[in-house]
Amino acid sequence: MELFSIDGREVIAVNHEYANLDINLPQNDEGAPVSEADVRKIQDAQGVAVFEVAEGENGWEIVVDSPYNRRITHNTPMRLTGPAAGHDLLKTEADPSGTEALGTFNNCGAGRTPWGTCLTCEENFNGYFGSTDAEFERPEGFDRYGIELESGYDYEKFDPRFDISKTPNEPNRAGYVVEIDPSDASSTPVKRTALGRFKHENAEVTLAADNRVVVYLGDDERGEFLYRYVSDDAYVEGGDTSGLLDAGQLYVAKFNEDGSGEWLALTPEATGMDRAMIHIHTRQAASAVGATTMDRPEWVAVNPLRVEAYCALTNNKNRAVKPNAGGDETPVGGPNPRAENNYGQIVRWRPEGEDHAAEGFAWDLYVMAGNPEVQDGAYAGSDNVTPGNMFNSPDGMKFDSQGMLWIQTDGDDSNEGDFAGMGNNQMLVGDPETGEIARFMTGPGGSEVTGATFSSDKKTMFVGIQHPMNFPDPEALPRSSIVAIRRTDGAVIG
Ligand code: CA
Ligand code: CA
Ligand code: CA
Repeated sequence: MELFSIDGREVIAVNHEYANLDINLPQNDEGAPVSEADVRKIQDAQGVAVFEVAEGENGWEIVVDSPYNRRITHNTPMRLTGPAAGHDLLKTEADPSGTEALGTFNNCGAGRTPWGTCLTCEENFNGYFGSTDAEFERPEGFDRYGIELESGYDYEKFDPRFDISKTPNEPNRAGYVVEIDPSDASSTPVKRTALGRFKHENAEVTLAADNRVVVYLGDDERGEFLYRYVSDDAYVEGGDTSGLLDAGQLYVAKFNEDGSGEWLALTPEATGMDRAMIHIHTRQAASAVGATTMDRPEWVAVNPLRVEAYCALTNNKNRAVKPNAGGDETPVGGPNPRAENNYGQIVRWRPEGEDHAAEGFAWDLYVMAGNPEVQDGAYAGSDNVTPGNMFNSPDGMKFDSQGMLWIQTDGDDSNEGDFAGMGNNQMLVGDPETGEIARFMTGPGGSEVTGATFSSDKKTMFVGIQHPMNFPDPEALPRSSIVAIRRTDGAVIG
């Protein structure tokens, strides 16, 4: 979720990551679609919503007739640009050019550019594709991305675009970062293939010392990688920004044991793949250069007050147990120091020369989540974890304008065993200087707390609550929601 101030009006763009089928189609057995109409309903319930909000006597309300309001769904026309656009693997019968896709999928985290656009990130896109032919032999590369013969949504039974036996290239048109202009509801979203194809978490944008655009990107799967994009050209305020996310270099992170690290460029020379393929089979390219397998990189957040960035490594039960989907080993070490890591940690790095475009960086762990009440050693967590702020599975992260790091969790909320005393998923706030972390709020039962943004005056914080079991009315169907939080004294919150 991101809030944009457009001509003095407040416009929120929020992701609708996935549908809860049993809630969206309550008349069907386990919510499974039984018709094309069911599939269309589910497709229209996901994607991105852009809408204006305004503060009135009763608090924040949606401006229902705003010209900014729009829904972007699984069927909205989009352009594909960058190194992979037009490649044979992106061409379909409906789009022989390989440059005009439909829809954006499983939009997880987001980002914002200095020029006022929203970046929405396609994460578990693989789950929408299946095959009506049980004997269909999947193309090379599908395994690495988890594209199987059975989907989670049954789209393929009613919409041949999602049937890989009929439209085998359609999955290659998903897994990207999509740029949306929230100031123009008629604009066509753009899939920026230069930012790589993988299970994108968020896209944290900052500027290098020379004002080139730097985007940090996590691939949220066990043993996958952390990426960085650096544009060829510099950002100039008011200048032409249309090519800044098309022409640039994609890198992947390698962390060394001694606290140093480096960004490895994914070039044809380094990977043995051509430029377009690097941006279609990005995971394979990163494996080829020997990147560090990570404990599920979720959001990256850049500190506005100093040149450093943080990445939530949410958890990884496979650490030191088995390799990633590409066969890369996942040994204990570096920023992934625990075998069978079910608590997660947050790594941070400071680029050499205080420049986000630098090749090298120094890293350390800001926090290792854990449980000091039931665990010893590394599983108890780092010193800044106490019985009063225990959490697991850090996920969403956002810096506020005062340099405080807001941390949201998406983990085990059983409150038992290894997780005793942690309670529901929650939101915490961390001080990067002192390391102190305090619990700020807890979500309703069953929910993930994800997405945070601020009103222009910084006096309201909007927080996303995803898939609660019951909220706020225990009798009604539970719905994902946005909560607006203000201080009782009306002061700035972030
Ligand atoms: Ca994720
Ligand atoms: Ca997440
Ligand atoms: Ca997560």
